[in-house]
Formats: sequence, C-alpha cells, structure tokens
Amino acid sequence: STSLARDFDFFYLVLQWPGSYCDTANSCCYPTSGKPAADFGIHGLWPNYNDGSYPSNCDPNSPYDASKVRDLLSSMREKWPSLACPSSDGTKFWTHEWEKHGTCSESVLGQHDYFQAALKLKKQVDVLQILQDAGIQPDGGDYSLKSIVSAISEAIGYTPWIECNTDEAGNRQLYQVYLCVDTSAAELIECPVLPRNSCGSRIEFPSF
Ligand code: 5GP
Ligand code: 5GP
Ligand code: 5GP
Repeated sequence: STSLARDFDFFYLVLQWPGSYCDTANSCCYPTSGKPAADFGIHGLWPNYNDGSYPSNCDPNSPYDASKVRDLLSSMREKWPSLACPSSDGTKFWTHEWEKHGTCSESVLGQHDYFQAALKLKKQVDVLQILQDAGIQPDGGDYSLKSIVSAISEAIGYTPWIECNTDEAGNRQLYQVYLCVDTSAAELIECPVLPRNSCGSRIEFPSF
C-alpha cells in the first residue's frame, strides 16, 4: 500500500541576493517594473525529502493561473522579482516555480496559499536586516561564512544553508539562503538535510 507514503518531508524557502545573480558572467535583466529593492528576494518554496532528493513537476493538470493570486501580485512583484533575461513581469518565473515545485505540495497548499505562504515566511525572516545587525553589509566586502551562518542562526534559532556562486572576476559570493520549513509552510524547522557546501571559508557580499 502507498497510503503511508508522504508527498514530501519539508520545504526549503530559498532566498536570493540579487547582486549575486546579476554580477555573474550571465548578467541579469531587471523586471519590467524596474530595479528591485536591494533586498533578498524569494526564489522558491521547494518541497523536499529528508534524503535530499525532491519531487518535481507533480501535476501537469495544474497550470499556473494568475487569476488565483490576483490579491498577491503586487507583493509578488516586490518580494519575488525575476532577474532573468529578457526582462519580464515575473509571470514566467512564478509559472516555473509553481509548476516545478508548488504542484508537489498541492496536497497541503493550493496555488493561492502556496504563494501566500512563501510571502509570509519571507516577511517573518528579514535576512538582510539580520546580517546588517551583525555588521555584515552588502558592500562588496569579504565575510567569513561562519559569521554569516552564526548571525542567522542566532536570530532565528535554526541553522540556514548558504549557497555561493561566482562573480565575473571568479570570486565566490553569497548567492542564496536556504531555510527549512515544516510541511504546513508555517513554521521554520531545523533542516533535516543540507545540500553540499558550495562556499569557501570567506565569501563576498556584493552590493546591488
Ligand atoms: P541549480 O542547478 O541552480 O542548483 O538548481 C537548479 C534547480 O534545481 C533549482 O532552481 C531548483 O528548481 C532545483 N533544485 C536544486 N536543488 C534542489 C533541492 O535541494 N531541492 C529542491 N526541491 N529543488 C532543488
Ligand atoms: P529552479 O528550477 O531552480 O527552481 O528555478 C530556476 C529557473 O527560474 C531557471 O530556469 C531560471 O532561468 C528561472 N528564473 C527566472 N528568474 C529567475 C531569478 O530571478 N533567479 C533565478 N535563480 N532563477 C530565475
Ligand atoms: P534555468 O534553466 O534554471 O533557466 O537556468 C539555469 C541556470 O542559469 C540557473 O542556475 C540560473 O540561475 C542561470 N540563469 C538563467 N538565466 C539567467 C540570467 O538571465 N542571468 C543569470 N545571471 N543567470 C541565469
């Protein structure tokens, strides 16, 4: 019987630093609404399994429907901007995130509640403020990975995972912050599993 199978075990809330998406060799394009705020934006809310694997594209019969998130669209433009080229209003990014990831937690959250939950979680955890309060600024300086992880851990009570990418000059930099969330998408939890380390001991925090 598959009755005890779980659709997924937890979520990653993935936040991206726009400065680190934009200063790579791929460059970036600002949304049609203009340059986003210099803040972490939402990348996605990703259902995951405890062994590190994850489901994707779980329901071809549930396409992204903007009419279901009409009340959230202005917040999505602000907090979940797409920086991929060509410039867009975000619809393509949100469609991708819903269809690839959101459809895999549909047993818990329908489309409206999925986007609403991600926005609420982002509002709950102000990662930029937490880092700035610890003296870690998006000023192009180098910071120890340990100090970044400690600042966030001490502020929220759970250990985040930091993903790095590489800027055009070849420096490793703070790209994404992963926080783990329970299956109801309401509460932060300790991460059951962390992806492979992609940072050095000191990393850049570029401006945006
Ligand atoms: P990347 O190549 O940037 O690591 O990942 C590409 C895409 O794979 C991500 O945008 C995301 O959709 C998916 N992905 C990568 N790692 C994970 C993971 O640990 N969990 C989930 N749910 N998706 C992931
Ligand atoms: P994932 O599959 O990793 O969840 O999402 C990454 C996909 O979303 C890629 O196809 C990427 O081109 C697209 N995308 C659109 N806008 C953005 C953005 O602002 N950041 C990232 N990381 N991916 C974006
Ligand atoms: P995807 O297939 O998910 O669109 O993109 C594959 C990889 O290329 C992702 O890791 C994504 O972050 C990156 N990528 C795609 N489009 C852009 C872009 O316009 N600018 C940047 N900087 N990265 C991009």
